[in-house]
Amino acid sequence: MSRERELLALDRAHVWHPYGPMPGKSDPYLVESAQGVRLRLADGRELVDGMSSWWAAIHGYRHPVLDEALVRQSQRMSHVMFGGLTHEPAIELATTLVDLAPDGLEHVFLADSGSVSVEVAIKMALQAQLALGRPRRRRLLTWRGGYHGDTFHPMTVCDPEGGMHSLWTGVLPVQVFADVPPVEFDEGYAAALRALIAEHADDVAAVIVEPVVQGAGGMRFHHPEYLRVLREATAAYGILLIFDEIATGFGRTGEFFAAGHPGVSPDIMCVGKALTGGYLTLAAALCTTAVAAAISGGDGGGLAHGPTFMGNPLACAVANASLRLLRDGDWRSHVRVIESGLRDGLAPLRGVSGVADVRVLGAIGVVQLDHPVDVAKATAAAVDAGVWLRPFRDLIYTMPPYVADEADVARIAAGIAAAVAAT
Ligand code: PLP
Repeated sequence: MSRERELLALDRAHVWHPYGPMPGKSDPYLVESAQGVRLRLADGRELVDGMSSWWAAIHGYRHPVLDEALVRQSQRMSHVMFGGLTHEPAIELATTLVDLAPDGLEHVFLADSGSVSVEVAIKMALQAQLALGRPRRRRLLTWRGGYHGDTFHPMTVCDPEGGMHSLWTGVLPVQVFADVPPVEFDEGYAAALRALIAEHADDVAAVIVEPVVQGAGGMRFHHPEYLRVLREATAAYGILLIFDEIATGFGRTGEFFAAGHPGVSPDIMCVGKALTGGYLTLAAALCTTAVAAAISGGDGGGLAHGPTFMGNPLACAVANASLRLLRDGDWRSHVRVIESGLRDGLAPLRGVSGVADVRVLGAIGVVQLDHPVDVAKATAAAVDAGVWLRPFRDLIYTMPPYVADEADVARIAAGIAAAVAAT
């Protein structure tokens, strides 16, 4: 048996994959290495990566600046506990995030994954409301179609009909859901949103949404003006506003944060994924001084959270290098090149039989079908076309690394066309 076959057999027998059965049913592709925008499979094939490892690898793989930051930090200190100790990589990262974030976000909690940063954001909101003497405000309000992670609290604010977490109906607390926000601005929808928030002024602690793009809940875009509606309506009732920028942050939608489209600042914001350029698992929840002061002045005097790997120096050092690359480089024009390449490359799919919609925003391209995708077939067709994609439900989509050039984007569009044809 070849080494590749042997490894895949062991994988099938012992390794869980996301949402997978055990033992595994389908063979994943074995990756040997990755460089720039390319993944190299064990069988020698090279694929242009259309996924950025799920929104994360914005600078591509093995970027020399990120590699160097990681190696340099590993020679100083790989990890120390964050209780009672601090270090320069974490201090630099928190300071930079505060500088780059929407106005008013001043305090940074370093978490170890996106889901945990959402847990922390929700705990911040609940603890702040409790400390402010509003103990009945325990629920969360969100809109349908969202995705905020797989741990328990985030699951409660994911799309209730999305299927991903339907297993837990009856187990999880029931939150308040508004309809999926439309692409165009609709005053009727805005009025209904305001009314729902007013109706729940006594029992909702916070509104949590993905701004401008709903990712894994359906890859939908909505009008940025709804974020201003949320800001005004929540402020009127002392309800906190949480933006989950885990997928949209760091330039992906064409603004550094999606909150920048309408120019709205939330009370709490989550970031993750591309924070380390996709190198290491790190996320953060940022909040305003008002939220931090409420929590710190309440019973207990602090936020009730403290993971072992909080503020991991390796992850912070790479995040600092990634943010420097964004600050010193021209991410905006790279995103624009990808956006126009995707618009041109995906346009011919409009009107193709089985295609319900084609949409592009920033460095995100989505083809929605009128039927569920056969994931294995669509993925295999893209791989045969030299492209890595990971379709789900009725969606074949891409968010390439920002270092993808015009030819790479054209190849990704061709890969998507091949995946559409195969399904
Ligand atoms: N929030 C959003 C908007 C996401 O897209 C994701 C992951 O896809 C998460 C939260 C969860 O992040 P993680 O997978 O790092 O736990």
